[in-house]
Amino acid sequence: MEIDIGDLCTHCGRDTSFGSGELLFANRIPSGADGTLVLHGGGDINILVVLNGYMCVECQSIECDECGNKVLDYNIDDGRIICSDCGDEIKVESEYFDEVKRQWEE
Ligand SMILES: [Zn+2]
Ligand SMILES: [Zn+2]
Repeated sequence: MEIDIGDLCTHCGRDTSFGSGELLFANRIPSGADGTLVLHGGGDINILVVLNGYMCVECQSIECDECGNKVLDYNIDDGRIICSDCGDEIKVESEYFDEVKRQWEE
């Protein structure tokens, strides 16, 4: 069974609509997710459903393995999540080390 939850985030349930005041509208993406509909009757009845809605920007972001910040912009380097900020730092560092290595070799 599919349930259209409209502007709600399929992962955290927050309202991603423009007027929600939560500022989640900007980077939301359409999303479908498995969910469970629970009916509280004489004993709970769980019905597996597919939720159609959006994924808010916070649920899309992922923790950087370098700085621990939740980021949207990241690269996967050797299986590690590296945000664009840390990625730049690492690049600068390795350029620096290349330079040191070159001097060493001369
Ligand atoms: Zn969310
Ligand atoms: Zn980072």
